[in-house]
Amino acid sequence: MTQYRRTAAWINLSHLENNLREIKKLIAPGTFFCPMVKANAYGHGDVAISLKLEQLGVKTLGVGLIEEGLLLRRAGCRSQILFFGIFDEHGVEPILQSHLTPVLSTWEQILCLEKKIKSSMAVHVKFDTGMHRLGFAMQDLEKLRAHFETSLLKVEGILTHLHSAEGLNPKEGSALEQLRQFAKVEQVFSAINSQPKPVVHSLNSAGMINFAKYSASEWPEGLSPHQGARPGLALYGIAPVKSTMNLKPVMNLRSEIVRTHALKAGESVSYGATWTASKDSMIGVVPMGYADGYHRLLSNRGTVLFRGQPVPVVGNVCMDYIMIDVSSVVKSAESLDHEVVTLFGEDEFGKYLSPEELAKQAQTISWEILTSVGERVPRVIENEGARSWKM
Ligand SMILES: *Cc1c(COP(=O)(O)O)cnc(C)c1O
Repeated sequence: MTQYRRTAAWINLSHLENNLREIKKLIAPGTFFCPMVKANAYGHGDVAISLKLEQLGVKTLGVGLIEEGLLLRRAGCRSQILFFGIFDEHGVEPILQSHLTPVLSTWEQILCLEKKIKSSMAVHVKFDTGMHRLGFAMQDLEKLRAHFETSLLKVEGILTHLHSAEGLNPKEGSALEQLRQFAKVEQVFSAINSQPKPVVHSLNSAGMINFAKYSASEWPEGLSPHQGARPGLALYGIAPVKSTMNLKPVMNLRSEIVRTHALKAGESVSYGATWTASKDSMIGVVPMGYADGYHRLLSNRGTVLFRGQPVPVVGNVCMDYIMIDVSSVVKSAESLDHEVVTLFGEDEFGKYLSPEELAKQAQTISWEILTSVGERVPRVIENEGARSWKM
């Protein structure tokens, strides 16, 4: 479709490639690896991201919904697609038809599948080690092992999810305790008759980064040194914990000024007139609002990049627009129309505004900043070198 709108999320696939390379440095060869492309690849566009990852040699992708898996299959994705969500009998048909690999968390899921399948099928089995969201209770461990001895469902992988991976270390804490619980699962499941030992995976981005900070011998005995990883955020260029990785932002959200106002001291801006110019000010109107995922909490709080400088969002965020005060950068009354504004990510000068910073201003987390970018913001694949908005 022709794009009339001068606002877009530029998707930099060479940065994705860079991030994948950085992540791979943390993971021992042969360790299970499943980049997460759920939620439209954290808002980046799951088809483009997934096809690129496949091209880069990724063998498994993680989705949260059957619908997401089907979309990827229709787009031509051929890798293994791990589906992490809950499903009932209605979900079985599409799972089988589209060759999704389900992650099982309930007995109902097991029974639904067993009712329909005629030959063996690979599944992953999730255990709840303290997150209390999805996964089988640890008390079910023996019963599950016995069940899978004779089932057509073959346990190709076992997994858990850490609730506080930011604090993972080999000495103490809830994340370590969760991995200890998980080691019991691994022990029990390594002994299923006539089935290869399942792969194990437990680490999100924070867990993966922290786990790699220590050598295998520093971790308590019994924990698998091959904790598989399911990175999301790091893949998209943001490290959730301190790290020496050289990650680069995959999404760069940019717009341009569509109207310039030279305000006199005392004049105000936007609904409710919550901001009033204390001196003569240059104001730019930017076509990006809360309907596009620019949080209204950023009213009089947010920052954007303009001509390589951070400048504040002034007045209330509207459905379709924000207003920015560029007076610190522009000293005379001139038209700024069509000048680029970067809402987050890298600007055309290589300056960077992190979604993390925006998340702090909006009292949320980077994950929500990325996934909030609205459906009506086009995702445009950025060519290497051509960063600027002009199309
Ligand atoms: C989303 C998700 C991840 C990835 O988490 P990040 O913090 O973005 O790396 C990993 N595992 C599961 C089960 C998830 O749902």
